[in-house]
Amino acid sequence: MRLCQTPGASCGACCGLYNGRDLGRSALRSELSRRTRALARVPRTPEAFRAAAAALAAGAPEPLFPSVRICPLLGFLDAGETRVGCLAHPLATGGVDLRDCGAYDVATCDAFLCPSHAWLSPDEAALLDRALAGDFHLYGLVVTDVPFLRAVLAAVAARTGAKVEQRHLDEARFRAALRRLLALKEELAPGSEGLFGAFRPGRDGEPVPRRIDYGALGAAASPYDEILTCVGADPRSGNDLEALEEEVARRLDGAAAAFPRPAPR
Ligand code: SF4
Ligand code: SF4
Repeated sequence: MRLCQTPGASCGACCGLYNGRDLGRSALRSELSRRTRALARVPRTPEAFRAAAAALAAGAPEPLFPSVRICPLLGFLDAGETRVGCLAHPLATGGVDLRDCGAYDVATCDAFLCPSHAWLSPDEAALLDRALAGDFHLYGLVVTDVPFLRAVLAAVAARTGAKVEQRHLDEARFRAALRRLLALKEELAPGSEGLFGAFRPGRDGEPVPRRIDYGALGAAASPYDEILTCVGADPRSGNDLEALEEEVARRLDGAAAAFPRPAPR
């Protein structure tokens, strides 16, 4: 299953969607809208698209990781602004391939598949697609952080005694509770590094693996360490470890309580 455009969800992470200081929904939406509106008026020629891409890049918010490119040709594919995607792709332009005008070139854009394609099983991918259908903002944050998704699913299974399966998402209450748990990703301190999984930006802009140094904090390791590391709960990343740990436990309890149980015989 290709994870970028699925029946329910879409992702623009590798086109630089989250490479900014303000990763809130409204900031990302407004930047994507700005690009989409601007590109809608541009003739479908390489010259015009290149000039438009340069103008859009000049007016874009500052990147968080300077070494990671941000493509100004990522925008909304639909009028309702629910699906994020490449506005230079032949399917979006009506035939001509203008991806050479973006941050990379056609060959790179065509060939690139992020590591989640190799790591996520078809079941995990389908489950995530269903759980976060229609929510490109959260989907992109989670689909690119396989350890976070696995840690969350394993923690729910540990509480319920049963593996989370797609059929469990038929239950709207459980679907909402699982979504709330995954949404830990977007409720972190402003500028938090947890949005990028277990990495933080190094001095040269390259990602550096993170870990929570419980020893230095004088705290015992959390039973939710993997989830907390993925969401950047280390206080030095700008978050409150204790408060986040309580929030993880609260949301796990909520998911376990909403987990569909077989009817008694
Ligand atoms: S980060 Fe992965 S899933 Fe997202 S658009 Fe890129 S290749 Fe696709
Ligand atoms: S041109 Fe390439 S990098 Fe830019 S939005 Fe399209 S696929 Fe992403």
